[in-house]
This record gives sequence, structure tokens and C-alpha cells, in this order.
Amino acid sequence: MKLFKIATLLSALTLAVGGLCAKPIPGPKGGRIVTADAPHVEFFVEKDRTVAITFYDAALKVIALGAQVISVVAEAKSGKVQLTLEKTATGFSSKQPLPEGDDYTVVVQVRDSAGAKPKNYRVLFHDEICRECKRAEYACSCDTAGGAGHKH
Ligand SMILES: [Zn+2]
Repeated sequence: MKLFKIATLLSALTLAVGGLCAKPIPGPKGGRIVTADAPHVEFFVEKDRTVAITFYDAALKVIALGAQVISVVAEAKSGKVQLTLEKTATGFSSKQPLPEGDDYTVVVQVRDSAGAKPKNYRVLFHDEICRECKRAEYACSCDTAGGAGHKH
């Protein structure tokens, strides 16, 4: 029962974040913080288009990787691709780059441990740079970011 309540709370939180246009937390590496609460998870696309996942505490200080299990699936127009991830000191990095193109969803699935209930975070991957905040569009931290109202 207790586990169920926590899971319900977590999915409610995820929904709340998805539904509100709260100001996004800028990822320290320049990526997107997908989580609303610490430990935070940052989704960052390197110059070679490999994906780096980094964990942070509430103050956005890098934290050591615990027992978390991550999967990253790119829902590219050419088909879904599950990236192969390698553990790093502070998270994970993908062995292969994201599929070609952009304007597709990347699903970051986080489990706090191997047996935990997965939490899915969806990032709309856009390659271009936002003119206002100069961050990559997928990691835009402007107030107006998020939802369909984001104009260029
Ligand atoms: Zn922006």
C-alpha cells in the first residue's frame, strides 16, 4: 500500500510538472533538467550527439551515481532507438549518437533502483539554439518554454 501511494504521488507530480508552465531549471551542463525534485536528472546532448545523463542534488551540485537505472529511447521519425548507456562517475553516457534529425521525442526513463517503478520523462529534442537564452532549444530555459506556446 505504501509503495502504491508513493507511486501515485510521483505520477501526480510528473503530471503537474508536465501541465504547468513553471520556469524550467537550467541544466548546469547546458542540458535539460527533466525532474521537478532532487535528485535532479539532466539530459544533455553532446556535440557529437551522444547523450549524457547527469545527477544533481537540490542545489544543482553534481552527485555520485547511486543505484539508479536509466534508459533512453529516441522516438525518431526513422523508428525508435534505445541508446546503449555506459555508467560514468556522475551518471550515464550513450555509446551511440541520437538518430539523425530533430523534432522528435526522447523518453528518459529513471528507476531509483533496479526494482523500482519507472518514471518516464519526455524531452522534445530540438537541435537549434534558442535566440533568447542561447541554449539548445530542447534545453531552453525561457519563461515561455514548454507546451505548444513556444514561438521562435
Ligand atoms: Zn530559450
